[in-house]
Amino acid sequence: MPLTFTENASLRQLNTFGVDQRAARLVEVTDPGDLPEAVAMLAAAPERLVLGGGSNLLFTRDFAGTVLLLRTRGLRVIERSGGTSLVEAEAGESWDGLVRWTIAQGLGGLENLSLIPGSVGASPIQNIGAYGVEMRECFAGLDALDLDGTQQRSFTPGECAFGYRDSCFKKGDGRRWLIARVRFRLPDDWAPKLDYGDLREELERQGIGSATPADVASAVRAIRRRKLPDPAVLGNAGSFFKNPVIGREQAQELLARHPGLPSWPAGQATKLSAAWMIDRCGWKGRREGDAGVHSSHALVLVNHGNATGAQLLALAGRIRESVAERFGVMIEPEPTII
Ligand SMILES: Cc1cc2nc3c(=O)[nH]c(=O)nc-3n(C[C@H](O)[C@H](O)[C@H](O)COP(=O)(O)OP(=O)(O)OC[C@H]3O[C@@H](n4cnc5c(N)ncnc54)[C@H](O)[C@@H]3O)c2cc1C
Repeated sequence: MPLTFTENASLRQLNTFGVDQRAARLVEVTDPGDLPEAVAMLAAAPERLVLGGGSNLLFTRDFAGTVLLLRTRGLRVIERSGGTSLVEAEAGESWDGLVRWTIAQGLGGLENLSLIPGSVGASPIQNIGAYGVEMRECFAGLDALDLDGTQQRSFTPGECAFGYRDSCFKKGDGRRWLIARVRFRLPDDWAPKLDYGDLREELERQGIGSATPADVASAVRAIRRRKLPDPAVLGNAGSFFKNPVIGREQAQELLARHPGLPSWPAGQATKLSAAWMIDRCGWKGRREGDAGVHSSHALVLVNHGNATGAQLLALAGRIRESVAERFGVMIEPEPTII
């Protein structure tokens, strides 16, 4: 199907916050073969944005340039060797669709990441993670197109600089790459990863002893459905803040003053629970007009109806300030702010 164009397009259905902004021009691409043409078109635009599922961004204004909506499709096993399978997915595939498809092929590895909204192409950008697993653990490589030129290239895992909710594509010069397709290496000798307490408990509750990838996926889905707000019902972008990572010494001082503050080792540093700190500052369940903090998730900002992106961003700013004031720690937003 050729590229489709919409002038003055509404973005409301294209972002999970349900924020009502518009784009001067929206270009939808469904055929991977049309990507070079679409990218060339972006180069000429006054500003540009690649959009997947819109589940990790916040529009605070109308977009004066061109939004490229990636809806390219394609899922394939490209190699089975050495006890692993190499799977390739086009960027516009839904992430959860990929997880379901791999499980249907008898392949485990991605099941802990079930039901994360959004597209395959966005998954490396913040190295999506959930229930004790990060995407990078199965990541084998990706193909990208240069938004600033005509270059196309592949990235190996080592070149992506993955970190906690981070990669080279999330910042600086790395932002110039459009991720076109992603490859994952999935092991034949799969073993469940059940480090996350809730997941073990859910499997026990369901009476499952020796879990298959499908069992783990269904346990993760059950937990997520119980715990996380469905964006179709209540606008949100999942966790709005990342857990801050600070030096060990500063963390020790903080933990001495706040013994209940959950923390985890992160290499030479310490990761702290942003949710706990936000909750202690009294934000959970608070609402300012239609912008609010979810009643059971301090990390999740919600749109109760007609909040603007600017109102949600202002609320986020007040939350950050109060956490900084009380704990001396700056928490950073996870979604892209536009
Ligand atoms: C209810 C809910 C739960 C969530 N749970 C989790 C979770 O458990 N773990 C987690 O890690 N995240 C979670 N998220 C966040 C989000 O789902 C992920 O970050 C997801 O990968 C975003 O995908 P997307 O296609 O929606 O990206 P978008 O929101 O469309 O884009 C996000 C950013 O990536 C860029 N981008 C998108 N696609 C491409 C591409 N192909 N090439 C280059 N740049 C691109 C965009 O320009 C933008 O800057 C959750 C979100 C929601 C709403």
